[in-house]
Amino acid sequence: MSDAWLPEPSTANAPFFEGARDRILRLQCCEDCGSWTFPVKDRCQRCGGTNIEWRDASGAGTLYSYGMLHRVYHPRHEGRLPLILANIDLAEGIRIPSNLVGISPADVRIGMALTVDFETLPDGAVIPVFRPAD
Ligand SMILES: [Zn+2]
Repeated sequence: MSDAWLPEPSTANAPFFEGARDRILRLQCCEDCGSWTFPVKDRCQRCGGTNIEWRDASGAGTLYSYGMLHRVYHPRHEGRLPLILANIDLAEGIRIPSNLVGISPADVRIGMALTVDFETLPDGAVIPVFRPAD
């Protein structure tokens, strides 16, 4: 399992964090071929085009893989342990890392349907997280 997902705000990813504050999962999408991309890129990973814009994603996905974090490796982990680190296959056809919330680790199942939610961290940043879909 990779390390925790720790995006830091920057000019390039500002729309992502602004979307999260509005409780919208906002990601980049290629205007030429319709492919979504994450993390932030200045070129489409499928067709190489540079005509990329930010769009609102559905927030629906399924669980591809997960791991547990039991120690604080970053101030943003404070008070959130154990943290479920997850890779999620979005309905838009890309896989993104995030955190799984609202579920006991014993109940987590690969392939389960998830929906986006939003969590405000102690430092004030709002990040997308995922919880089981009803
Ligand atoms: Zn493209």
